[in-house]
Amino acid sequence: MIICKTASLLHKTIAFFHKKSIGFVPTMGALHQGHIALINQSKQTTEITVCSIFVNPTQFNDIKDFEKYPITVEKDILLLEYAGCDILFLPSVQEIYPEGLAIQKKYALDYLEEILEGKYRSGHFQGVCNVVERLLSIVKPTMLFLGQKDYQQCMVITKLIDLMQWKNKLQINIVPTKRETSGLAMSSRNTRLSEDEKQKAATIYQTLQFIQQNFITIPFITLIHTAENMLHKAGFEKIDYISICRADNLMPIKKYDSNIKMVVLIAAFMGEIRLIDNLLLE
Ligand code: AMP
Repeated sequence: MIICKTASLLHKTIAFFHKKSIGFVPTMGALHQGHIALINQSKQTTEITVCSIFVNPTQFNDIKDFEKYPITVEKDILLLEYAGCDILFLPSVQEIYPEGLAIQKKYALDYLEEILEGKYRSGHFQGVCNVVERLLSIVKPTMLFLGQKDYQQCMVITKLIDLMQWKNKLQINIVPTKRETSGLAMSSRNTRLSEDEKQKAATIYQTLQFIQQNFITIPFITLIHTAENMLHKAGFEKIDYISICRADNLMPIKKYDSNIKMVVLIAAFMGEIRLIDNLLLE
Protein backbone atom coordinates (compact mmCIF):
# COMPACT_ATOMS: atom_id res chain seq x y z
CA MET A 1 0.00 0.00 0.00
CA ILE A 2 1.29 3.45 -0.89
CA ILE A 3 0.80 6.19 1.71
CA CYS A 4 0.36 9.72 0.36
CA LYS A 5 0.32 12.71 2.68
CA THR A 6 -0.17 15.36 0.01
CA ALA A 7 -2.64 15.84 -2.83
CA SER A 8 0.17 16.21 -5.34
CA LEU A 9 1.75 12.87 -4.38
CA LEU A 10 -1.69 11.25 -4.45
CA HIS A 11 -2.31 12.54 -8.00
CA LYS A 12 1.03 11.16 -9.20
CA THR A 13 0.37 7.80 -7.52
CA ILE A 14 -3.12 7.43 -8.98
CA ALA A 15 -1.81 8.41 -12.42
CA PHE A 16 0.96 5.80 -12.06
CA PHE A 17 -1.65 3.03 -11.56
CA HIS A 18 -3.22 4.11 -14.86
CA LYS A 19 -6.65 2.62 -14.10
CA LYS A 20 -10.13 3.72 -15.10
CA SER A 21 -12.19 2.83 -12.03
CA ILE A 22 -11.16 4.27 -8.68
CA GLY A 23 -12.96 3.30 -5.48
CA PHE A 24 -12.80 5.70 -2.55
CA VAL A 25 -13.46 5.03 1.15
CA PRO A 26 -13.26 8.21 3.26
CA THR A 27 -12.79 7.58 7.00
CA MET A 28 -11.72 9.27 10.20
CA GLY A 29 -9.50 6.34 11.19
CA ALA A 30 -9.62 4.12 14.30
CA LEU A 31 -10.51 1.52 11.73
CA HIS A 32 -12.56 -1.61 12.43
CA GLN A 33 -14.18 -4.35 10.37
CA GLY A 34 -17.02 -1.98 9.39
CA HIS A 35 -14.51 0.18 7.51
CA ILE A 36 -12.85 -2.93 6.10
CA ALA A 37 -16.22 -4.09 4.71
CA LEU A 38 -16.19 -0.86 2.64
CA ILE A 39 -12.62 -1.54 1.48
CA ASN A 40 -13.58 -5.12 0.51
CA GLN A 41 -16.61 -3.88 -1.45
CA SER A 42 -14.43 -1.34 -3.26
CA LYS A 43 -11.82 -3.99 -4.08
CA GLN A 44 -14.51 -6.22 -5.56
CA THR A 45 -15.96 -3.46 -7.74
CA THR A 46 -13.11 -1.18 -8.78
CA GLU A 47 -9.56 -1.45 -10.12
CA ILE A 48 -7.87 0.58 -7.39
CA THR A 49 -8.99 1.41 -3.88
CA VAL A 50 -8.08 4.63 -2.11
CA CYS A 51 -8.84 5.04 1.59
CA SER A 52 -8.45 8.35 3.40
CA ILE A 53 -7.93 8.90 7.10
CA PHE A 54 -8.65 12.43 8.25
CA VAL A 55 -10.25 13.44 11.54
CA ASN A 56 -12.18 16.40 10.21
CA PRO A 57 -12.27 19.20 12.80
CA THR A 58 -15.11 21.08 11.09
CA GLN A 59 -17.70 18.33 11.60
CA PHE A 60 -17.41 18.17 15.40
CA ASN A 61 -19.95 20.35 17.15
CA ASP A 62 -18.48 19.24 20.49
CA ILE A 63 -14.79 20.11 20.91
CA LYS A 64 -14.40 17.42 23.62
CA ASP A 65 -15.60 14.78 21.17
CA PHE A 66 -12.97 15.96 18.66
CA GLU A 67 -10.18 16.01 21.23
CA LYS A 68 -11.06 12.52 22.45
CA TYR A 69 -11.55 11.01 18.99
CA PRO A 70 -9.42 7.82 18.96
CA ILE A 71 -6.28 7.92 16.80
CA THR A 72 -4.67 4.58 15.93
CA VAL A 73 -2.87 5.27 12.64
CA GLU A 74 -0.27 2.51 12.91
CA LYS A 75 -2.88 -0.18 13.55
CA ASP A 76 -5.04 1.33 10.77
CA ILE A 77 -2.17 1.01 8.29
CA LEU A 78 -1.75 -2.68 9.18
CA LEU A 79 -5.48 -3.34 8.78
CA LEU A 80 -5.54 -1.59 5.40
CA GLU A 81 -2.41 -3.43 4.20
CA TYR A 82 -3.97 -6.72 5.24
CA ALA A 83 -7.23 -5.87 3.45
CA GLY A 84 -5.29 -5.10 0.25
CA CYS A 85 -6.04 -1.38 0.05
CA ASP A 86 -3.89 0.18 -2.70
CA ILE A 87 -3.46 3.77 -1.52
CA LEU A 88 -3.91 5.51 1.82
CA PHE A 89 -4.39 9.27 1.70
CA LEU A 90 -3.30 10.69 5.05
CA PRO A 91 -3.50 14.47 4.69
CA SER A 92 -2.78 17.19 7.25
CA VAL A 93 -5.36 19.81 8.24
CA GLN A 94 -3.34 22.31 6.18
CA GLU A 95 -3.61 20.07 3.09
CA ILE A 96 -7.41 19.84 3.34
CA TYR A 97 -8.05 23.38 4.54
CA PRO A 98 -5.23 25.49 3.00
CA GLU A 99 -7.14 28.68 3.72
CA GLY A 100 -7.74 27.77 7.34
CA LEU A 101 -10.69 26.32 9.22
CA ALA A 102 -12.62 29.59 9.47
CA ILE A 103 -13.42 29.73 5.76
CA GLN A 104 -16.17 27.21 5.13
CA LYS A 105 -18.43 26.74 2.14
CA LYS A 106 -22.18 26.73 2.85
CA TYR A 107 -24.31 24.03 1.22
CA ALA A 108 -28.05 24.14 0.58
CA LEU A 109 -28.94 20.98 2.49
CA ASP A 110 -32.36 22.33 3.51
CA TYR A 111 -34.37 20.19 5.92
CA LEU A 112 -31.79 17.35 5.74
CA GLU A 113 -29.55 19.28 8.13
CA GLU A 114 -32.39 20.33 10.43
CA ILE A 115 -33.64 16.86 11.38
CA LEU A 116 -32.24 13.96 13.42
CA GLU A 117 -28.42 14.30 13.55
CA GLY A 118 -28.65 17.80 12.11
CA LYS A 119 -30.95 18.91 14.91
CA TYR A 120 -28.67 17.62 17.66
CA ARG A 121 -25.30 18.35 16.00
CA SER A 122 -25.56 21.85 14.67
CA GLY A 123 -23.23 22.49 11.71
CA HIS A 124 -22.14 18.86 11.58
CA PHE A 125 -23.31 18.14 8.03
CA GLN A 126 -21.87 21.41 6.69
CA GLY A 127 -18.51 20.21 8.03
CA VAL A 128 -19.05 16.79 6.44
CA CYS A 129 -19.85 18.40 3.06
CA ASN A 130 -16.81 20.68 3.21
CA VAL A 131 -14.41 17.80 3.83
CA VAL A 132 -16.09 15.38 1.42
CA GLU A 133 -16.13 17.89 -1.44
CA ARG A 134 -12.45 18.63 -0.84
CA LEU A 135 -11.55 14.92 -0.66
CA LEU A 136 -13.58 14.08 -3.78
CA SER A 137 -11.96 16.92 -5.71
CA ILE A 138 -8.52 15.59 -4.76
CA VAL A 139 -9.12 11.84 -5.24
CA LYS A 140 -11.55 12.10 -8.20
CA PRO A 141 -12.97 8.60 -7.66
CA THR A 142 -15.46 6.85 -9.92
CA MET A 143 -17.11 5.06 -6.97
CA LEU A 144 -17.66 6.20 -3.43
CA PHE A 145 -18.24 3.68 -0.61
CA LEU A 146 -20.28 4.73 2.43
CA GLY A 147 -21.70 2.84 5.40
CA GLN A 148 -25.43 2.49 6.03
CA LYS A 149 -24.56 2.93 9.73
CA ASP A 150 -24.53 6.69 9.00
CA TYR A 151 -27.83 6.67 7.13
CA GLN A 152 -28.46 10.41 7.16
CA GLN A 153 -24.85 11.09 6.15
CA CYS A 154 -25.38 8.87 3.08
CA MET A 155 -28.35 11.06 2.12
CA VAL A 156 -26.43 14.28 2.75
CA ILE A 157 -23.49 13.12 0.62
CA THR A 158 -25.87 12.02 -2.15
CA LYS A 159 -27.29 15.55 -2.05
CA LEU A 160 -23.78 17.05 -2.05
CA ILE A 161 -22.88 15.07 -5.17
CA ASP A 162 -26.04 16.37 -6.77
CA LEU A 163 -25.10 19.95 -5.78
CA MET A 164 -21.57 19.39 -7.15
CA GLN A 165 -23.13 18.11 -10.39
CA TRP A 166 -21.08 14.93 -10.13
CA LYS A 167 -24.06 12.58 -10.38
CA ASN A 168 -22.99 11.29 -13.80
CA LYS A 169 -19.39 10.65 -12.95
CA LEU A 170 -19.55 9.27 -9.42
CA GLN A 171 -21.50 6.24 -8.26
CA ILE A 172 -22.40 5.86 -4.59
CA ASN A 173 -22.32 2.42 -3.00
CA ILE A 174 -23.96 1.98 0.39
CA VAL A 175 -22.59 -0.93 2.40
CA PRO A 176 -24.67 -2.65 5.14
CA THR A 177 -23.76 -2.03 8.78
CA LYS A 178 -21.19 -4.42 10.23
CA ARG A 179 -22.02 -5.51 13.78
CA GLU A 180 -20.39 -7.19 16.75
CA THR A 181 -21.81 -10.62 17.66
CA SER A 182 -23.94 -8.82 20.26
CA GLY A 183 -25.56 -6.76 17.49
CA LEU A 184 -23.79 -3.53 18.48
CA ALA A 185 -22.93 -1.59 15.33
CA MET A 186 -19.15 -1.33 14.99
CA SER A 187 -17.96 2.21 15.58
CA SER A 188 -14.69 3.95 16.34
CA ARG A 189 -16.42 5.44 19.38
CA ASN A 190 -17.00 1.94 20.84
CA THR A 191 -13.33 1.92 21.92
CA ARG A 192 -14.33 4.50 24.54
CA LEU A 193 -16.90 2.12 26.09
CA SER A 194 -16.08 -0.35 28.87
CA GLU A 195 -16.86 -4.05 28.24
CA ASP A 196 -19.94 -3.71 30.44
CA GLU A 197 -21.12 -0.60 28.55
CA LYS A 198 -20.57 -2.39 25.22
CA GLN A 199 -22.87 -5.21 26.31
CA LYS A 200 -25.54 -2.73 27.45
CA ALA A 201 -25.11 -0.69 24.26
CA ALA A 202 -26.15 -3.69 22.17
CA THR A 203 -29.69 -2.91 23.40
CA ILE A 204 -29.86 -0.28 20.64
CA TYR A 205 -29.87 -3.10 18.08
CA GLN A 206 -32.39 -5.14 20.10
CA THR A 207 -34.62 -2.06 20.25
CA LEU A 208 -34.34 -1.52 16.49
CA GLN A 209 -35.22 -5.19 15.95
CA PHE A 210 -38.18 -4.89 18.32
CA ILE A 211 -39.49 -2.01 16.20
CA GLN A 212 -38.80 -3.93 13.00
CA GLN A 213 -40.77 -6.93 14.29
CA ASN A 214 -43.77 -4.90 15.46
CA PHE A 215 -44.10 -1.82 13.26
CA ILE A 216 -47.02 -3.26 11.30
CA THR A 217 -49.15 -4.22 14.30
CA ILE A 218 -48.34 -1.77 17.12
CA PRO A 219 -49.11 1.98 16.78
CA PHE A 220 -45.89 3.99 16.35
CA ILE A 221 -46.49 6.09 19.46
CA THR A 222 -46.69 2.96 21.66
CA LEU A 223 -43.77 1.38 19.82
CA ILE A 224 -41.51 4.37 20.42
CA HIS A 225 -42.58 4.67 24.06
CA THR A 226 -41.70 0.98 24.65
CA ALA A 227 -38.41 1.46 22.78
CA GLU A 228 -37.51 4.42 25.02
CA ASN A 229 -38.16 2.25 28.08
CA MET A 230 -35.97 -0.53 26.70
CA LEU A 231 -33.08 1.90 26.22
CA HIS A 232 -33.48 3.59 29.59
CA LYS A 233 -33.63 0.19 31.33
CA ALA A 234 -30.37 -0.84 29.66
CA GLY A 235 -28.59 2.25 31.00
CA PHE A 236 -28.99 4.82 28.21
CA GLU A 237 -29.54 7.94 30.28
CA LYS A 238 -30.15 10.31 27.41
CA ILE A 239 -31.97 9.56 24.16
CA ASP A 240 -31.71 12.17 21.42
CA TYR A 241 -34.21 10.48 19.13
CA ILE A 242 -35.99 7.29 18.16
CA SER A 243 -37.58 8.12 14.85
CA ILE A 244 -39.43 6.22 12.13
CA CYS A 245 -38.94 7.96 8.79
CA ARG A 246 -39.38 7.52 5.07
CA ALA A 247 -36.34 5.59 3.85
CA ASP A 248 -36.01 7.76 0.73
CA ASN A 249 -36.05 11.25 2.26
CA LEU A 250 -36.09 10.87 6.07
CA MET A 251 -39.43 12.64 6.50
CA PRO A 252 -40.95 11.45 9.81
CA ILE A 253 -43.86 8.99 9.60
CA LYS A 254 -46.63 8.74 12.18
CA LYS A 255 -48.31 5.46 11.18
CA TYR A 256 -47.74 2.33 9.19
CA ASP A 257 -48.32 2.58 5.45
CA SER A 258 -47.61 -0.49 3.33
CA ASN A 259 -46.78 1.72 0.32
CA ILE A 260 -43.88 3.50 2.01
CA LYS A 261 -40.45 2.05 2.67
CA MET A 262 -39.35 3.10 6.15
CA VAL A 263 -36.26 3.25 8.32
CA VAL A 264 -35.99 3.53 12.10
CA LEU A 265 -33.11 5.58 13.50
CA ILE A 266 -31.81 5.93 17.05
CA ALA A 267 -29.28 8.22 18.73
CA ALA A 268 -28.61 7.74 22.44
CA PHE A 269 -25.89 8.23 25.04
CA MET A 270 -24.18 5.42 26.92
CA GLY A 271 -22.39 7.49 29.55
CA GLU A 272 -20.58 10.23 27.63
CA ILE A 273 -20.59 8.32 24.35
CA ARG A 274 -23.21 9.14 21.77
CA LEU A 275 -24.14 6.14 19.63
CA ILE A 276 -26.26 6.00 16.48
CA ASP A 277 -27.78 3.10 14.59
CA ASN A 278 -30.65 2.36 12.19
CA LEU A 279 -32.57 -0.45 10.55
CA LEU A 280 -34.68 -0.58 7.40
CA LEU A 281 -38.21 -1.70 8.16
CA GLU A 282 -38.84 -4.50 5.71
P1 AMP B 1 -16.02 7.11 10.11
O1 AMP B 1 -14.57 6.74 10.15
O2 AMP B 1 -16.76 6.79 11.34
O3 AMP B 1 -16.24 8.51 9.62
O4 AMP B 1 -16.67 6.16 8.99
C1 AMP B 1 -16.15 6.08 7.70
C2 AMP B 1 -17.09 5.29 6.85
O5 AMP B 1 -17.26 3.98 7.40
C3 AMP B 1 -18.50 5.91 6.78
O6 AMP B 1 -19.01 5.76 5.47
C4 AMP B 1 -19.27 5.07 7.77
O7 AMP B 1 -20.66 5.03 7.52
C5 AMP B 1 -18.63 3.71 7.57
N1 AMP B 1 -18.85 2.86 8.74
C6 AMP B 1 -18.63 3.18 10.03
N2 AMP B 1 -19.01 2.16 10.83
C7 AMP B 1 -19.50 1.20 10.03
C8 AMP B 1 -20.06 -0.11 10.26
N3 AMP B 1 -20.22 -0.60 11.47
N4 AMP B 1 -20.46 -0.83 9.18
C9 AMP B 1 -20.32 -0.32 7.92
N5 AMP B 1 -19.80 0.89 7.65
C10 AMP B 1 -19.39 1.64 8.67
